Parts: sequence; C-alpha cells; structure tokens
Amino acid sequence: MTPILQSFSQGRWHSSQGDTSPLLDASTGEEVARIPKSGPDVAAMLQFARKIGGPELRKLTFTQRATILKDLGKYLFSHIDEFVEISTRTGATRRDTTVDVDGGIGTIAVYASKAGRELPDRTILHDGEVELLGKGGTFGGKHILSSKLGAAVQINAFNFPVWGMLEKFAPAFLAGMPSVVKPASQTAYLTEAVVRRIVDSGLLPEGAISLLCAGPDGLIENLTSQDTVSFTGSASTAQALRSHQVITSRSVSFNAEADSLNCSILGTDVIPEDEEFGVYIDQLVNEMVVKAGQKCTAIRRAFVPVSMMDDVIEAVAARLSEVIVGNPSDQSVQMGPLASRGQREEVRNNTAKLMTAAEVVYGDLNKVSLVGADAEQGAFLSPILLKANDVYASEIHSVEAFGPVCTLIPYQTFGEVIEAASMGEGSLVASIVTADVALAKVLVAGLAPWHGRILVVESSSAGESTGHGIAMPQMLHGGPGRAGGGEELGGLRAMKHYMQRTAVQGNPSFLETL
Ligand code: NAP
Repeated sequence: MTPILQSFSQGRWHSSQGDTSPLLDASTGEEVARIPKSGPDVAAMLQFARKIGGPELRKLTFTQRATILKDLGKYLFSHIDEFVEISTRTGATRRDTTVDVDGGIGTIAVYASKAGRELPDRTILHDGEVELLGKGGTFGGKHILSSKLGAAVQINAFNFPVWGMLEKFAPAFLAGMPSVVKPASQTAYLTEAVVRRIVDSGLLPEGAISLLCAGPDGLIENLTSQDTVSFTGSASTAQALRSHQVITSRSVSFNAEADSLNCSILGTDVIPEDEEFGVYIDQLVNEMVVKAGQKCTAIRRAFVPVSMMDDVIEAVAARLSEVIVGNPSDQSVQMGPLASRGQREEVRNNTAKLMTAAEVVYGDLNKVSLVGADAEQGAFLSPILLKANDVYASEIHSVEAFGPVCTLIPYQTFGEVIEAASMGEGSLVASIVTADVALAKVLVAGLAPWHGRILVVESSSAGESTGHGIAMPQMLHGGPGRAGGGEELGGLRAMKHYMQRTAVQGNPSFLETL
C-alpha cells in the first residue's frame, strides 16, 4: 500500500483518517503516495508554533541560530542520496535535483555562513545609526528590528518542493520566527521526506517547524497580525490569498512570488562567430530543458535582432534535437517529464494560445521520442520553440506556458525591446547578452523598473556566471507586478520580512545601549 503523507504539528506526526488523493510518479504514472484532503487542527498547529516555537527560538541569539542552521545544512547533505531517489519520482533528473535539493540545502549553508559573520550575538538588530532630533543633542531616535511574535506561514509551489521550503525557512529561522510549511500537494512527498530528516536531526528548538501535508483549510482563516505569509505559486492563487478578508483586515504581512514572463535579450552587437552568441544559445537551451522548463525564472521570451533570427533558430533547434527526453531514472536522460499529466495539459493549452501569435519552429506538442518511458503514462512533452512575427503581439507577453516552451521575438531597436519587455507587467529576471557596455547600460536602465534581477553576460564573465534562472541566496529573488510584487533572498535582507521595524526615540546615549 502506498504511504499516506503525514503532517507535523505540535511536536508530533499526525495521520489523517479522511479522504485522500493519489500523487503519481511523473514518469510512470504509478502511485507514489496519497495526500489527505484534511489535516490536523490547523488553528492548534499555528498556536503551537506561536506559543512554543517562537519563544524557544527567540531565546537563542542570531549567532546561535546561525550555528544550528550550519549543522542542519551538514546533516541534510549527509542524507542527500535519499532525497535524490525520491526527487526522481517528481520527474527530476539529477541535474534538476541539484537545483532543488542541493540548491535548497546550499541556501541554508549560505544563510548560516552570512549570519555567523554579519549578525551580532544578540536578539535585536539595529537598523541604521542614531539620528539627532534636538539641537542640544539630548534627544534622538534610531530604528531597531525585533522578531515578530507569530508563525511564518510558507506556501510553496509544486516545482521546488525542497528549495522553495528551505529558502523561506532559513531567513525566518534566523529572524526568530517558527515556520509552518504548506507544500504544493503534487510533490509534497519529497518535502515530507526532508522535514522528517529535519525533525530527526534533533537540532531545531521545539515548534520551530511544522508541516501541513493536506488541504489548506483554516490556514489563512486563523492568521493573526503577528503572523506572516510567504507565498509562491500562480498569480491567481496569490491574488485570492492576498485579498482574503483575514489578510487585509489584520494587515498580515504577505509576500508573493508568482508567474513571470522572464526575458533574455541578444544584443545587436553579437554575431554568430562571437563567444557571446554561444553563451546566449546555451542559456536559452538550459532554461528550456532544466526541470523541463518548470522554473519560475525560466526564459519565456527571447528577444533576438531581426538580422540574427535565422542563425538563432538554427543553433537552438540543433541543440534541442540532441536533448534526450525520458524517465530520469535512466542516467542518459537530460530532460524529464512535467510534474503531472494535468500540468502537461495546462502547458499544451497555454502553448496553443501562444501559437495564435507565433509559429512552432522546433518540436511537436503531441509527439516526443522517449528513453525508458511511455508517453501515455508519463507527463512528457517535447521542448517547443516558437517564433513570433510581431514584437508587440499581446499573447506572447501575457501567456505563461510553464514548461519547456520559449518564444523567439524579433526586434529592431532597444526602445522596442524595453517597451515589449514591460508588456510582461513585471518579471523576476531579465538577461542581456552583449559585449557592448553602452547598450547594456541603456537596457539595464530601461528594464530595471520591471524586474527583480538583471543578469548582464559577456564572454569574460560567462565562465563564472551562475546563469539566468538560478536564484542565488545573496541576490534578490522576486519581481514587481505580475511576478507577485514580493522580495525573497537578497542575503540577510530576507530576514526583515519576519521582523518588525520600530523607531525608538529618547536620549542618544540611552539608545546606544539598547
Ligand atoms: P498554485 O496552484 O497557485 O499553488 C501554489 C500553492 O498554493 C500550493 O501549495 C497550493 O496547494 C496552495 N494553495 C492553493 N489554494 C490555497 C488556499 N486557498 N490557501 C492556501 N494555500 C493554497 O501554483 P502551482 O501550480 O503549485 O505553481 C505553479 C506556478 O507557480 C507557476 O505559475 C509559476 O510561475 C509559479 N512559481 C513562481 C515562483 C516564484 O518564485 N516566483 C516559483 C515557482 C513557481 P495545493 O497544491 O495543495 O493546491
């Protein structure tokens, strides 16, 4: 019998008795686990986090919390093989797992190291210097940051069952807030396996982490003004939760990472003989293939100078034709399936919408040759490369096909690129491949208001570049508008989401001793 996922609440694992839904292996369609429709008492779960987890965590200084995170990172790395095996069932190749699992644990390690070096051995953070507010120097003010007293609710998307949890958990833990994790159902069995190891490690104070492997009923309804919500998922769910009466009436802090039509721009200075041309093609193909394009940061829109379009199509198509698609348990496979057959349907539907404004130049929505897999049982899809004719066609700037699908868009001028990129209504990331500094400057200035991150690549930095789609813990992850309007990561900035900033006024010498 397949296991029924459990939730971790009030310091113990809970089984649910009611209805369950099957979670299927993305490649074979076999049942991996079942997830209960309803879980343990969510109000009690939140209250335990607030009343036990928070106080226990806040007894520790930032330095002590950093040490625990460091040990936790090492402990989880020692169990990586176990996670890799489970991750394969989500459709992930080993390379995909590196982004999710190794990347998630690596994020903990980076946070531990930065916090150990940069945070004080105290429980309150200073934010800026004392500002004098009186002529005699006896009165002034300064800002401090203290931990919020609630629970940090973390709702994650199906595509990053591990990274999505750990990149939120690490800053919340450092900030002194207990995490209540709600994974997306589809891949929750991997999140559950990692949380089991976190609990088994015995490293965390009691109540510092809870896990809800069930429907979300009651999660939002029971929030208080000291709680926070960090959400990753679709724009429509983000919108529904953000406007929930409890969130608005109690001013619950709400951070969202949502859909994004990220773009990559090939500079007009680049010709096929340049190293930058190869960099652009590599990046484009990688972003389509890694995690079968199910990355919130993947390139959806590729702007190419009109004169270079044929060369780009030829080069990308040649590379895509070499990509081995199939069951990721076969070591030769480079691209696995989508997370579920339902997800494949959604990608097909959205690609069909894109095809009203763009033609397919590589791939077939209904045909893919596979290694070690059956196209009917698994959620496989060929990489699909599209080419638009009109740089301003609205579909290509509004429809997100969350899979191995990318649209090439021909452009004539930088002004056109900047205007068309903004039609995505706000994205997580843009990349510019050019060796022309003046061009990069114009594009960065034009794109910055619409993006959370911009990557400028030329040949000398290409070797060390972390790539278009990788959200590094040190750098901001998030974006305006459609991308959710939120901010995550960005080094220790991320802690501030979980802390209250307070202006404290009084005698400056007294303030210095705080
Ligand atoms: P989704 O359907 O919006 O679900 C996201 C999460 O919200 C899941 O855990 C879901 O749980 C939960 N949820 C749904 N209704 C809820 C409610 N009423 N209360 C509390 N939680 C609720 O999104 P998805 O299909 O998992 O993810 C795909 C989308 O995420 C893509 O559009 C992608 O662009 C976006 N994404 C963005 C980022 C980013 O960082 N910006 C990263 C990854 C993905 P269930 O699964 O149990 O329904």
